[in-house]
Amino acid sequence: MTKSRLLITGGAGFLGSHLCERFLAEGYEVICMDNLITGDLANVEHLFRNRDFHFEERDVTEYIHVTGQLDAVLHFASPASPIDYLELPIQTLKVGSLGTHKALGLAHAKGARFLLASTSECYGDPLVHPQSEDYWGNVNPVGPRGVYDEAKRFAEAITMAYQRYHGLETRIVRIFNTYGPRMRLNDGRVLPAFMPQALRGEPLTVFGNGSQTRSFCYVDDLVDGIYALLHSDEKLPTNIGNPSEMTILEFAREVIDITGSNSDICFQPLPEDDPKVRQPDITKARRVLGWEPRVLLRDGLKMALASFKERLQAAGELPPDAGF
Ligand code: UDP
Repeated sequence: MTKSRLLITGGAGFLGSHLCERFLAEGYEVICMDNLITGDLANVEHLFRNRDFHFEERDVTEYIHVTGQLDAVLHFASPASPIDYLELPIQTLKVGSLGTHKALGLAHAKGARFLLASTSECYGDPLVHPQSEDYWGNVNPVGPRGVYDEAKRFAEAITMAYQRYHGLETRIVRIFNTYGPRMRLNDGRVLPAFMPQALRGEPLTVFGNGSQTRSFCYVDDLVDGIYALLHSDEKLPTNIGNPSEMTILEFAREVIDITGSNSDICFQPLPEDDPKVRQPDITKARRVLGWEPRVLLRDGLKMALASFKERLQAAGELPPDAGF
C-alpha cells in the first residue's frame, strides 16, 4: 500500500514543524513548503534524515506545483504574531488570500482533503465570551491587526466556497494562543518576550495593566486536535485551544516563578486593538472530536523553557550554567 502523502505549507514555522513531526510519526510522507520569511530551517533540520520528509522553499502566493499523488493539504503558511504582521502587512494579506486560493486549487486538482489554519483573531476584540464558533466576531478591518484578521476571514470564506461549489473536502481549525518549544525568539508574542526577559533577569514587559486575558494551549495538545479534525467529518470551523484563561499579569508571574527569576514587571502601552479577553469555547471539539487539552500550563512552560534556554545559550546570551 502506498503511504498517504501530505503537503504542509508553512511547514518550517512553529506549528508547521510540529505538524511535520506528527504526521511523519503517523507514517505519512510529508512535503514541507515554506518561503522562510518567518519560518526557519532549524525547526525541521532534524527531519531531513527521514526519507519520507521533503522540503521545498517556495512562496505559496505563486503557482504551486507538486508532482504525484497528494491526500491532504494543510495550509499553515502565514506570519502569525502581531509584530510580524505589522512588519509584513502585504505578505500577510497575500498569503491568507492568494496563498489560500493556490493551496485550495492544488487540493482540488489532486482530490486532496484541505485543512485551513484559521485563528481566534476571526473573533477580533470579542463581545461574546467565551468564543464559540457561531460568534461572527468584532474585527476592525482597518486597524493594525486587520491585515491578519481579514485575510483569515477571507481564507475561511474561500475555503467554504471550494467546499460548496467544488465539493472539496475541507476542514477549518480556529487556533487560539499556542505555545511550546521552537517558538521564534523575538517574534513579539508574549511567551517569546517574557521567557528570555525572565532568563536574563530583565523586567517583563506587560502591556497595558495586564488585565487582558488569554488562554494558552500547549503545542502537542493543539496538534492532537488538528490531527483529529483532519480525520473527522466536521466541515465547519472548529475551535482548538485550551479554555484555561488567565490575565497577562498572572501569566507574567507564572513565567517568573517557573524560571526561578528575580525579574520585576514593567508596564508598557497597550497595542492598538489588543483583544481584552480571549477564551475558546471547546464544547464542539469535545463533542465532535472527543478532544480536549491535557497538558497543564506549568508542565508545558517547563518544556518551552528548555527550548528557550538552549537557544539563548547557543546564541551566547546566557551562560551555559545559568542555573535555572
Ligand atoms: N503582551 C505583553 N507583553 C509582551 C508581549 C505581549 O503584555 O511583551 C500581551 C499582548 O498585549 C497581548 C497578550 O500579551 O495582550 C498576548 O499577546 P501575543 O502577541 O502573544 O498574541 P495575541 O493573543 O495578542 O495575538
